[in-house]
Amino acid sequence: MRKPFEKMGHYKSNVRDLEFNLFEVLDIENALGSGQFGDLTSDAVRDMIRQAAEQAEGPLADSFADGDRHPPTFDPATHSVTLPKSFKDSVRSWHCAPWLRLAMSEGLGGIPAPATVRWAVNEFLVGGQPAAFFYLSGPPMLEVLYAEGNEQQRHWAARGIERRWGATMVLTEPDAGSDVGAGRTKAIEQPDGTWHIDGVKRFITSGDCDDLFENIAHLVLARPIGAAPGTKGLSLFLVPKYLPDPETGAPGPRNGVFATGLEHKMGLTASATCELTFGQHDQPAVGWLVGDVHNGIVQMFKIMEYARMAVGSKAIATLSTGYLNALSYAKAREGGLGDADVRRSLMTQKAYVEGMRALYLYTAAHQDDAAAAVVSGADPTMARRINDLLLPIVKGVGSERSYQYLSESLQILGGAGYLQDRPFEQYIRDAKIDSLYEGTTAIQAQDFFFRKIIRDRGEALGHLAAQIDNFIAAPQARPELAGARVMLARALADVRAMVATLTGYFAKSGSEPRELYRIGLSSVPFLLAFGDLLIGWLLLTQAEIALEALDSDGEGHDRAFYNGKVAAAKFFATNVLPRLSAESAIIEGVDLAVMDLREDAL
Ligand SMILES: Cc1cc2nc3c(=O)[nH]c(=O)nc-3n(C[C@H](O)[C@H](O)[C@H](O)COP(=O)(O)OP(=O)(O)OC[C@H]3O[C@@H](n4cnc5c(N)ncnc54)[C@H](O)[C@@H]3O)c2cc1C
Repeated sequence: MRKPFEKMGHYKSNVRDLEFNLFEVLDIENALGSGQFGDLTSDAVRDMIRQAAEQAEGPLADSFADGDRHPPTFDPATHSVTLPKSFKDSVRSWHCAPWLRLAMSEGLGGIPAPATVRWAVNEFLVGGQPAAFFYLSGPPMLEVLYAEGNEQQRHWAARGIERRWGATMVLTEPDAGSDVGAGRTKAIEQPDGTWHIDGVKRFITSGDCDDLFENIAHLVLARPIGAAPGTKGLSLFLVPKYLPDPETGAPGPRNGVFATGLEHKMGLTASATCELTFGQHDQPAVGWLVGDVHNGIVQMFKIMEYARMAVGSKAIATLSTGYLNALSYAKAREGGLGDADVRRSLMTQKAYVEGMRALYLYTAAHQDDAAAAVVSGADPTMARRINDLLLPIVKGVGSERSYQYLSESLQILGGAGYLQDRPFEQYIRDAKIDSLYEGTTAIQAQDFFFRKIIRDRGEALGHLAAQIDNFIAAPQARPELAGARVMLARALADVRAMVATLTGYFAKSGSEPRELYRIGLSSVPFLLAFGDLLIGWLLLTQAEIALEALDSDGEGHDRAFYNGKVAAAKFFATNVLPRLSAESAIIEGVDLAVMDLREDAL
């Protein structure tokens, strides 16, 4: 009798591909030699990758189905959430390991490591137990508090990491989702320098935590009385669940912030999504203005940068395990991998997932000065801008393409894929949220065009495009990939044409505001097209390296791996990149008829 996946573990990691990215593509050995990461060696990194993968496939992933089938419950009388024991065990297993301290500052007990290593290890967390990752986001959020806070807040941040607090990011309100600036939660200054927060926030991940943490640091956007409307008037407050001792950080009296509801969701059910009410239960919700400055949206963006990277890589990690599960099913099935459509689908999944993994790691490489210099020759300022440029792609493209192709992972199994004794239907349910929270895809696409391209005057874009140009023109290029390079050059020209067209609409919008609609109608397709270009380029970069390795690796066991790299890159170049010409033509011809249509005709 077939064992349900609950008994076998659902998660399949891809250690080989991560090592290939880190050591053969991004050359982290070179960055490790910079001295910036203490005495961390490549052998130590390999050990960490393997140990973390093993832990993720085992204790972390163990509660994947149980947490989903026995979601958290809520007691309105005590305002508390109860989580399934199996899920708490998984969260604790990761919390006790050193992984969350990777690449954190040493002053906070961090382990010096390149950001690429931190995110590679994080892939196992978000792939093995996606519902756990926000519960485990206390350390990175407190790290932002440490960077932005005043002396007392820095002290609490350090104690909080040591004492393993949870943390939340609190923006959304019933009438303020994408439009964060519409938030109405108030902040009222007190004579002792603290603030009282008053309002209702909704959809707050990990808003309550059972007995997982002794305290939760809620990082809350609220509007001081009399502050400007919109995002500019929002300030960031630390509102702990329990008022911490100023010295030890030990939890003191209960603060007036309470969970007042728990959502019932499509997926990611083990992650408690709460309504949080501040200051409305006969008790003030005491908050501290972060860093004593009114700069809330900028400060919150620092948390969002982490969260967007984590959400994008969560989606990509889910597609990875989806693809690997589908592949192993297809290989074991009678008839194997004989059907052409099954092969088309598997190769599409493989190309997207490996290309997107390369993309998030390339982005991470630009979060360290030493690594960025090795990878793209960017100086520290340019490295920061490249990271900014790529984050909406990691988040927006990562979430959309993963959701799209997880459906193909399920399809490989036919009806069996639809059953709950396989992980696919849960993968799809759990991954859907990734295109919604931390800014919907439309919001990512607008951020990408208006802030990361227009406001940046195209400088980061230019640096990146120059990398692709250099790759296309490289004199040592392998002849095996000549045809695919032609496709890549065409795709780059198509994307340049899209940028020119959209920039033209933007220029005209000064005198003709309706031109902005053309950008609104095109921005998500543009984001996805840009993602395809980057995926195509990164896959071909990998294929070059794989061909070199094949030359020197006579009979090695890695031949299949390298052959797969070359095949995926060629497949993507010939089957996906040509579509960008059509996208470019659509963007060039976009008309406003859909905006002029009467609503009753929609
Ligand atoms: C499970 C879950 C967990 C969450 N966790 C948190 C959390 O921890 N903290 C937190 O603060 N929030 C959290 N959220 C809230 C989440 O960030 C919001 O749901 C999201 O920002 C979208 O806001 P909204 O739901 O109000 O949708 P809306 O903003 O109403 O969007 C609806 C649709 O309109 C589109 N749209 C809206 N504005 C524009 C625009 N200007 N241009 C183009 N299209 C637009 C959107 O793209 C979307 O398709 C969570 C939500 C969920 C479901």
